[in-house]
Amino acid sequence: MADNLVESDIEFVRDVARLGGGSLKKCFQCATCSVVCSLSSDEKPFPRKEMIWAQWGLKDRLLSDPDVWRCYQCGDCSVYCPRGAKPGEVMGAIRNYSFKSYAFPRFMGRLLSSPRYLPLLFAIPGVLFLIVLQHMEALSTVPSGPIAFTRFDNYVDLIFVTVSILVLLATGTGVLKFWKGMDRNNVRGDGYGRIGIGSSVFLAAKEVLTHNNFKKCDANNIRYLGHLSIFYGFAALFIVTSIVFIGLRVFHMDLPMDQTNPIKVLGNLGAVTLIAGCSIAVYNRLGRKEQSGESHYYDWFFLSVLSLIGVTGLLTEVVRLSGNAAAAYWSYFVHLVFVFSLIAYFPYSKFAHLIYRFVAIVYARYAGLDEPAEEMVSGKMGTKSVA
Ligand code: SF4
Ligand code: SF4
Repeated sequence: MADNLVESDIEFVRDVARLGGGSLKKCFQCATCSVVCSLSSDEKPFPRKEMIWAQWGLKDRLLSDPDVWRCYQCGDCSVYCPRGAKPGEVMGAIRNYSFKSYAFPRFMGRLLSSPRYLPLLFAIPGVLFLIVLQHMEALSTVPSGPIAFTRFDNYVDLIFVTVSILVLLATGTGVLKFWKGMDRNNVRGDGYGRIGIGSSVFLAAKEVLTHNNFKKCDANNIRYLGHLSIFYGFAALFIVTSIVFIGLRVFHMDLPMDQTNPIKVLGNLGAVTLIAGCSIAVYNRLGRKEQSGESHYYDWFFLSVLSLIGVTGLLTEVVRLSGNAAAAYWSYFVHLVFVFSLIAYFPYSKFAHLIYRFVAIVYARYAGLDEPAEEMVSGKMGTKSVA
């Protein structure tokens, strides 16, 4: 009997409203949103059921719902909703709530949820790198000789390797919680297990790499371009950083590289693409509010840190080439602060989308949920069943 009881969490409803889902209560459950969503499957449609669960305060259901993460916030459903309940924004608010809930340790989730803690978040890497660079006398007494950031490598590597290990543990804990929740709540379609985990991972990776689902957005299609540029810009920078890290440690690579070196070219292209993607995203959020919906602190924190990584990275390079050692080392210091903020706060910020969305897509494939009935939604209002 107790298993059939539905536990409603009123505080959760308030939190979702505060995180950008304030229009939630306007929903009168007509299901138009589930019909127009081109990502929603015929068998397990969304986001109407999420609107109902959110209205009822069914926190646990929503926290273990892969469909919350399969939504790309294209805004199509919000445009068609006859009540102005903005289901796309409610889905975004639930995802924002999820970062805090999956967070391990929990206090980190709180620190990333409010601008109140922003000075502290930047002060942590600020103090850390000030100590390192000052210890090497790079900021007060500028070292003589060519400008070489590699002189700090031992310390900087130690910080980033330690932080990366902690982040992997924290992310793994959150993801495990998420996966177990989906399995516990029996989120399964008829085709459960028909596709093995390996194939599900392959299909999910293909979807992420091609951004195919983003292309299906009608109302907010500029989001595809912004997201794709951010994704590939960041991927290029990640590849370059990994090559340099291994190259330095294993092959004693010579730095700085020549500007025509392919690795250098890839790094510069990555930074420019990242900045371009962030600019599109900012324009979309500020200039096209009707299509993009309301933005939250989570959105701005992530976008700002990403943009600043690209800008300070390029700036550091330009200043180094100009030969101004003091400005180059200070610029490098600021760049390190932002890189640290992106990596160390990964599991608690919007950056965690990357992993939770991927896991949700893998699960959806594995559980047989992921069969969008495109023929039914062609022309937007098809014969898709409602739920
Ligand atoms: S279209 Fe709007 S009113 Fe209808 S179920 Fe979706 S959110 Fe609710
Ligand atoms: S915002 Fe787009 S992807 Fe998300 S539920 Fe609405 S229509 Fe589907």
